[in-house]
Amino acid sequence: MRNYLNFYINGEWIAPSGVPSLDVIDPNTEEVAGVISLGNHTHVDQAVAAAKHAFAEWSLTTPAQRVAILERVCEVYGARMQDIAEAINEEMGAPLTSLAIEAQAPMGLGHFMTTTEILKNYAFEEKKGTTTILREPAGVVAMITPWNWPMNQMACKVAPALAAGCTMVLKPSEVAPFSAYLLAEILHEAGVPPGVFNLVNGDGPGVGSYLTAHPDIDLVSFTGSSRAGKMIVKAAADTLKNVSLELGGKSANIILEDADMQEAITNSVATMMMNTGQSCNAPSRMLVPKSSLAKAEDIARKACEGIVVGDSRAANTTMGPLASKMQFEKVQGLIGTGIDEGAKLVCGGPGLPDGIGKGYFTRATVFSDVNNQMTIAREEIFGPVLCIIPYENEEEAIAIANDTPYGLSGYVFSGDHDRASRVARRLRTGAVHLNGAPVDLEAPFGGYKQSGMGREWGVHGFEEFLEVKAVMGDN
Ligand code: NAD
Repeated sequence: MRNYLNFYINGEWIAPSGVPSLDVIDPNTEEVAGVISLGNHTHVDQAVAAAKHAFAEWSLTTPAQRVAILERVCEVYGARMQDIAEAINEEMGAPLTSLAIEAQAPMGLGHFMTTTEILKNYAFEEKKGTTTILREPAGVVAMITPWNWPMNQMACKVAPALAAGCTMVLKPSEVAPFSAYLLAEILHEAGVPPGVFNLVNGDGPGVGSYLTAHPDIDLVSFTGSSRAGKMIVKAAADTLKNVSLELGGKSANIILEDADMQEAITNSVATMMMNTGQSCNAPSRMLVPKSSLAKAEDIARKACEGIVVGDSRAANTTMGPLASKMQFEKVQGLIGTGIDEGAKLVCGGPGLPDGIGKGYFTRATVFSDVNNQMTIAREEIFGPVLCIIPYENEEEAIAIANDTPYGLSGYVFSGDHDRASRVARRLRTGAVHLNGAPVDLEAPFGGYKQSGMGREWGVHGFEEFLEVKAVMGDN
C-alpha cells in the first residue's frame, strides 16, 4: 500500500492539510493499491511561485552545469529501475516482466539519456552578420500527463525542460500517480535545486485547469485526450501561453498486397495489443486488400490466441488489465457498439476473458469488414480492439487512412521499399512506421490535425522548451 499523500514543492515534501484523498486502484484486483491527496488552487499557487522563484537562477546555469545534473539523474534513475517498473505495474497494470521492466521504465531513462546528449552538442547561439540569435529557456512550464505510459510521458517533458533551463510544475494523472512520486525522489536525490521541479497531485478540474490558466505559467505541455486538449487551449487563451499538445489517435496501418501477410499482420497485432491497446499511436485501423480479407482475419485471430491475458505480476502474462474501471466500461461499451453497427466479430468480444472473475481485463478483440464511418473506426477506443477495414486499391487505402480527425501515426507494410516510402509521404500524420520499424526516441513525436500541436522527443522536443531571441547590432 503506497501512502503518497505529500506534494513536492520547493525541494521539500509537504503534507497538504484539509484536502480530500483519492484511492488508487490496482486494476488487477480492484483493490486499493495506494492513496494520494487531491490538491487545490493553494498548492498550485505555492508550486508555481516556487518554480518562478527558482527560474531566476536555474535559467542562468550553463549547459555544462545542467549536463552534470542530468547525468546524475540518469544514474539515480538507473539504480531505481525495478522500483519504477513496480510502481507502473501497480498504478496502471502494465505486465511487470514483459512491459514495465522491458519497455515502460527504460523508456523514461531513454529520454533523460538522449536529452543529455542533445544538450552536450546544442548551439544556443548563432551569428548572422552582426545579429546574434539566442535560444533561451521558455520559462515556467505546467506539465499535465496521462496514465497509459506514465513515466515515458513525464520524462519526455521533464528531461528537455531541465535541459533547456526551464522550471516546472507537474500534475500527473490521478489514475496513475505512483511513478511521478518516484520521479520527484529521483530528481531530489540527483541534486535538482529546490523549486526547479515541483509535483502537485489532483484531478483535471481541480488542479489541471487552474494550472493551465495560471498567469505565471509560460508554457503548457500536455499529453492526454483531445477532449481535455481543447479545454486547455481555451484555458490558456486569456494569457496567450504557448501550448504543446500530444493528443489522441486512430492510426491507420496499410498492409499493401505485396507485403508478407503473415509477418505484417502478426507484427501489427502485437503492436496493437501492447499495453492492452492503451497507446496513443496504436495501429487500431488495419487496412487490408479486399482479396486478402479472409487470410488477414485468420492470421489476426491466431495472433490473438497467442496472447496471455492475466495477472500483470505473473511472469508469462503478455496482456494485463485496462488501467481503470472507467476505461474498462468505455472499451466494453465500444465493443458492444461494434457488434450493434454490424462489424464482423473475428475474436474476443464483450465480457471478461475466460477464467477471470475480477479486474479490468478485456478480451483481445478483432472486428473485420469494418466500414471507416462506423463508430469503432472513428473513435479512439484505447483498448485491445483492432478494426480490419478492406480496401480495393492503394489510392482508396490512402484515402481511408487520411479520413479521420486524427493524425498521430501511420503504418505501412510492403515488399517494395520505394512503394512503402511513397505511401508514407501521402499520410497526414506526424510519424509513419515502415514494415514494423519501432519508435525512435531521437525522432520527433507528435500529431497532425486533432492529434495535437508541437513535438516531443529528440531535438524537436527539446526546442519546444526554448524561446528564440534576436540581438541586433554589434554584440
Ligand atoms: P485525459 O485527457 O482524461 O487526462 C490527461 C491528463 O489531463 C490527466 O492528468 C487529467 O487529470 C488532466 N486533465 C483532464 N481534464 C483537464 C482539464 N480540463 N484541464 C487540465 N487538465 C486536465 O486523458 P487520459 O484518459 O489520462 O489519457 C488517455 C488519452 O491520452 C488518450 O486520448 C490518448 O490518446 C492520449 N495520449 C496521447 C499521447 C500522445 O503523445 N499523443 C500519448 C499518450 C496518451
